[in-house]
Amino acid sequence: MACETGRVTAPSNDAGRNWAGNITFRAARRHRPSTVDELRTVMADAEHIRAIGTAHSFNRIADSTGDLVSVAGLRPSIAIDAKAATVTVGGAVRYGDLASHLYAAGYALHNLGSLPHISIAGAVATGTHGSGDRNGNLATAVRALRMVTADGDLVTLRRGEAGFDGAVVALGLLGVVVDVTLAIEPAFEVRQFVFERLPWSRLVESFDEILRDAYSTSLFTSWSGPVVDQVWRKKRTDEPAPPGGDWFGAVPATGPLHPIRSMPADNCTAQLGAPGPWHERLPHFRLEFTPSAGDELQSEFLVPREHAVAALTAVDGIRDRIAPVLQISELRSVAADELWLSPSYRRETIGIHFTWIPDTAAVLPVVAAVEEVLAPFAPRPHWGKIFTTPLDAVAARYERWDDFQRLAATYDPGGKLRSQYDAWQSG
Ligand SMILES: Cc1cc2nc3c(=O)[nH]c(=O)nc-3n(C[C@H](O)[C@H](O)[C@H](O)COP(=O)(O)OP(=O)(O)OC[C@H]3O[C@@H](n4cnc5c(N)ncnc54)[C@H](O)[C@@H]3O)c2cc1C
Repeated sequence: MACETGRVTAPSNDAGRNWAGNITFRAARRHRPSTVDELRTVMADAEHIRAIGTAHSFNRIADSTGDLVSVAGLRPSIAIDAKAATVTVGGAVRYGDLASHLYAAGYALHNLGSLPHISIAGAVATGTHGSGDRNGNLATAVRALRMVTADGDLVTLRRGEAGFDGAVVALGLLGVVVDVTLAIEPAFEVRQFVFERLPWSRLVESFDEILRDAYSTSLFTSWSGPVVDQVWRKKRTDEPAPPGGDWFGAVPATGPLHPIRSMPADNCTAQLGAPGPWHERLPHFRLEFTPSAGDELQSEFLVPREHAVAALTAVDGIRDRIAPVLQISELRSVAADELWLSPSYRRETIGIHFTWIPDTAAVLPVVAAVEEVLAPFAPRPHWGKIFTTPLDAVAARYERWDDFQRLAATYDPGGKLRSQYDAWQSG
C-alpha cells in the first residue's frame, strides 16, 4: 500500500536559457500544464514538442523550435511503498528534494549525481550518473514510469515488460514522463575523505584498487602535472574508515576543498570524514548553493573500464591543448546496466568528464581533439553534455540503437518528439 509522505515544489526553468546560459531555447510556445489531462491535450495538439526538466543540460537535447512542455506544474507528490521498497515521484521533482523526504522517512536512493539540483525525469532521460564500481547510473533505480506519448495517451511501463529497458534512458524521445517509480533502500550514512596530489604513476599502476576502495570515488585532475589534484572518497559508515596518513602517495586534505581549488568550499558537501546522511555526502555540491563553477560548459566521455588507463593516457597526451580551456576534469566509475541507450549499457564504465571555461568557440575544437584521441575506445558521450561526434557515429556505439528507433516509432509514429533531435550535441 502506497503511503503519501509529502509534497514538494518542483522548480523548472522558465527563463528561456539553460542553466549554463550557452543555450537560448528556440521554442515558439511553452506549456506548464497543471493536470495530466491538460498535458495529454498539449501533447495531442502539438506538431513538434520536447519536454524540459531543470535545463541543466549543456546542449540542445531539451530544445524545440515548436513547443516545450514542463511537468513542473503537475502535483508533485512523493509516495513511498515500504513493502515494495519503492518511491513514486513526480518527474519534475529535484533529486535534492526527494532525498530529504526519503531520509526523513528512513530511506535512501543507491546514489546521486554531483549535484542535487536536477529533475528526476531529466536526469534519468540522459543516463545521469554518480560514481562507484558497484553503482549503476541513476536510471538503473527506475522500476516503472508513467508517460504521456505523442498522441496524448497515458502509458505505464514496468521493469520486466517489453520495451522497458529502452524507455528509461530515452532522451525525451518516447513521451513526457509524469512520474517515476524508483527503488529505495534503508537510509545510510557516508563519510567523505578528500586526498590531495595522487601521483599519476600510482593511479596508472593501481587504477582498479583506487577506484574500488570506496562506495563512491571521484578523481579531480587538471591534466597539468604528474599528480591527480584531488581524490574524493565517499565511504559508507559500514565500510572501514581509511587509516590516517598517505594513501597511494596522496595526502589527506587538512581542510574542506572545492574540486576547483581556487573556489570556496562553502558550496561543497561536508568533508574531513564527518559522518552524515547519504544525500548530504554523495553529491559534491549542496542544494542551497550554486553547484560546480557556475560559469562553465561540460563534456563527458564514457569508455569501457578495461580501456581506462589507455584512454586516460591518450587524453593526457593532449594536455597542452586541454589546459587553456579547462577548469577541472573528473574521473568516475559506473557499473554496467541493461538500459539500451545508457552510456554504461553492458559495459563497466569510466567517465572522463571536463568542466570547460564558458567559451564555446574555444572549447569545441578541444572537445573534438579529445574525441579523436578517445575514438579507439568507442567513447559514448554523455547525452546532456557537449560533444561534436555526429549522432550516427554515436549510434553505432549502441547495440540496441535500432531497437530504440523502433520503440520510438511505436510511441511517436509521426516523429513529433524526434524533430531536430539529431543536431543537438554541440549547442
Ligand atoms: C553543474 C552540473 C553538474 C552536473 N553533474 C552531473 C553529474 O554528476 N553526473 C551526470 O551524469 N550529469 C551531470 N550533469 C548533467 C545533468 O545531470 C544532465 O544534463 C541532466 O539531464 C539534467 O537534468 P534536467 O532535469 O536539467 O534535464 P534537462 O536538461 O531539462 O533535459 C534533459 C533531457 O531530459 C528530457 N526530459 C526532461 N524532463 C522530461 C520529462 N518529464 N519527460 C521526458 N523527458 C524529459 C529532455 O527532453 C531532455 O531530453 C550536470 C549538469 C550540471 C549543470
